[in-house]
Amino acid sequence: MAALPSVLDPRSVIMLAGLMGVVMSVVVFFMRRSYPATIQGLREWAWAPLVAFVSTLLFAARDVLPDFITIVVANVVLFEACLLYYAGSQRFLYGRSDTAGWHGLTVVMACALFWFSEFRPDYEVRLVIVTAVVAALFLSHALLYIRHRGSVVFGMRLMIGLLLLQSLVAFARLVSALLGMAGVGLLDATVLQSIYISMYSFTVLLLSIAAILMATDRMHSEFQFLATHDPLTGVLNRRALLDACQAQLAAAGRDGGSRTRRMALLMIDVDHFKSINDRFGHQTGDAVLREAVGRMQRAIGDNGLLGRYGGEEFVVMLPEASPAEATELAARVKASAGEAFPADSPLAAVGAFTVSIGVAPQQPGADIDDMLGQADEALYRAKSLGRDRVVLAG
Ligand code: GH3
Ligand code: MG
Ligand code: MG
Repeated sequence: MAALPSVLDPRSVIMLAGLMGVVMSVVVFFMRRSYPATIQGLREWAWAPLVAFVSTLLFAARDVLPDFITIVVANVVLFEACLLYYAGSQRFLYGRSDTAGWHGLTVVMACALFWFSEFRPDYEVRLVIVTAVVAALFLSHALLYIRHRGSVVFGMRLMIGLLLLQSLVAFARLVSALLGMAGVGLLDATVLQSIYISMYSFTVLLLSIAAILMATDRMHSEFQFLATHDPLTGVLNRRALLDACQAQLAAAGRDGGSRTRRMALLMIDVDHFKSINDRFGHQTGDAVLREAVGRMQRAIGDNGLLGRYGGEEFVVMLPEASPAEATELAARVKASAGEAFPADSPLAAVGAFTVSIGVAPQQPGADIDDMLGQADEALYRAKSLGRDRVVLAG
């Protein structure tokens, strides 16, 4: 037990945490190679702990290297490491980073630290300068995440928590420095000082872990999106749509089957689509499909879920609709799909296209295959009756 205090001296803790930071850096570098390029910020996040480690070495060289290096340069390098994390977050969240203002502040800080170490040495003033700038950066960094709209995952919560904590601790140190309660130098082994320094070092480590968690989660959701969406039109693919239908049927089954408004399916097929391809080419056909999806989506709004069933066939799942409501919505979809392209549209030459729709309201005890069969049958009838129409199954 007697050896414990010496094991936990600030220098060892800083060095250990710094080395772990280097390991994290290597991990992120390798992760970056296997992650999709759409996940940005990993490069900055990989460099950050390395740069932080360099600052650790510089701080540790106090009394060995000149004060200019261990005070001015060390603080600037540490601040740049914090800025790298910040830039990484900017790129991760917004795809671009802008840290010009902060780099300007770094220069001002360097000049001030230089002045208060070489000409008017004053540890407390230096501490006030560094803690004020660091508190501001961590707070801005946290606000970057807090203001960002989008799903908040565990890694992001960890990131926000760490940044707010660091900002708070820096602010507390700033206040204590202003009140003249700080130690005399960085490596004074006062309890508070040790806690602060250890925490700071571990934060570097935890920030990297939070970053990895966020990047992994982002990759997971990107793959999830690719696996469930149609690449041409961006709507749900067949599998995802049928999964949603199954889930809806299961949920409806649980709360009794006596309701008049049940699930309904619309099966939509573009009429004579082959001739659009034949006359205007496959690419124009693709553009027409995308336009058709946009129009249908607008007509459906929040009332249902649109998915591509295959080729030029689409299915809409209406979670709760009476047969009359489903037919009415189908009529709206048909009307909006059938509008001619305006003269200034790149698709103006196509003129207009029409769709046929089969409507299948949920019958008691019917499963998804039954409903698809009924919708398909109704669609077939709509086709044979001359297309450009809505037919209700049954
Ligand atoms: P109907 O009114 O009977 O539905 O006639 P149709 O021409 O629409 O039906 P058919 O099933 O004969 O042709 C569908 C065409 O849709 C054939 C296929 O080449 C085309 N198609 C399927 N998927 C795509 C796609 O992703 N892009 C384009 N451009 N064409 C597609
Ligand atoms: Mg067709
Ligand atoms: Mg078809």
